[in-house]
Amino acid sequence: MKLIEAIAKNHKELTEWRQDIHAHPELGFEEERTAKLVAERLESFGCEVHRGIGGTGVVGTLRSGSGTRTMGIRADMDALPIQEANTFDHRSRNDGKMHACGHDGHTTMVLGAAQYLAQTRNFDGTVHFIFQPAEEGLGGAKAMVEDGLFERFPMETVFGIHNRPGLPMGKFAMRSGPMMAGGGFFDINLTGRGAHGARPEASADPIVAASQIVTALQSVVARNVNPQDTAVLSVTRLHSGEAYNVIPNDATIGGTVRAFAKETLQLLEQRIGEIATGVASGLGVSVDYQFRLIFLPLINEATATKFAGDVAASIVSEDNVNREGPAIMASEDFSYMLNECPGAYINIGNGGGEGSCEVHNPGYDFNDQILPLGATYFSRLVEIKLKR
Ligand SMILES: [Zn+2]
Ligand SMILES: [Zn+2]
Repeated sequence: MKLIEAIAKNHKELTEWRQDIHAHPELGFEEERTAKLVAERLESFGCEVHRGIGGTGVVGTLRSGSGTRTMGIRADMDALPIQEANTFDHRSRNDGKMHACGHDGHTTMVLGAAQYLAQTRNFDGTVHFIFQPAEEGLGGAKAMVEDGLFERFPMETVFGIHNRPGLPMGKFAMRSGPMMAGGGFFDINLTGRGAHGARPEASADPIVAASQIVTALQSVVARNVNPQDTAVLSVTRLHSGEAYNVIPNDATIGGTVRAFAKETLQLLEQRIGEIATGVASGLGVSVDYQFRLIFLPLINEATATKFAGDVAASIVSEDNVNREGPAIMASEDFSYMLNECPGAYINIGNGGGEGSCEVHNPGYDFNDQILPLGATYFSRLVEIKLKR
């Protein structure tokens, strides 16, 4: 493995940074301590630092030479509302909060690269280190984009990473095109006319309408989505009624959709509304329908993904880079940045083998052994892309 020596020598310090962040987890948009620590460290390296972007987001900018080329490197800073089960010294000090997704490690790897690149300036152009808040479903990437991330810090391409438990240490995985699904939540609120359970003729029964809507929704993926596309539509909530002898006034249906193409998500949104409204109106029940897009599909741009694979292979050799990694139905909000700017998001092995502790588990911990590898990867991306 061809680690950058200066980064490898810094392994102990990187580990201390990571474990300090791990011990002080903060939820999305509340990353005050983490953002302050990141900003102060970037300043101490000699970066130009911009705080408060999209809430608690931070951008550190580094320039070298007279080149006009630009790129971005992104990390996420938020933790999860999970009570940590680990008992090691660097366990969470904040009750009910935990770095159970390894964002403490992602933040440290990007800081490690920023430190090295600030010292060596072995590149020609501008690199922006992006530390985003609230990746875990609260819309931190979208908030930074809407706060003008790409207008204020123009960049030709942007790169992100996520650790993957079960993928051995020293290995990378990625795929070009759709890699993670986009997703949304929907609510269908039905209003009928309540009546005595023995006098159905006086009612407009929302339970009968809800039942038929749930059944009819099963036709959306089966009959409307192109069989060559992938989609999921799951009804996960269904509430109505209290008494045995009362036909209730209302019923509510809720659920989630996932798909790898924006167009498919739009189709799902549209068809759920049409089916709910059509079925309900035939039964004399009115519908209030709401659909919330939570994540866009994560789409890796082909050239950037090949470049990321080439850089990873230059460090760990081609044998340890899976360029045809799996596409998964889970979501990631770096998708909002990739929607604006071409780039690539890849996985770095967190080790542990198949069946090892997954992310979002109370026993999870980021593997400090891979910190120098991640920092080397980000540094080499910049040194090669912005070659002098
Ligand atoms: Zn997560
Ligand atoms: Zn994560």
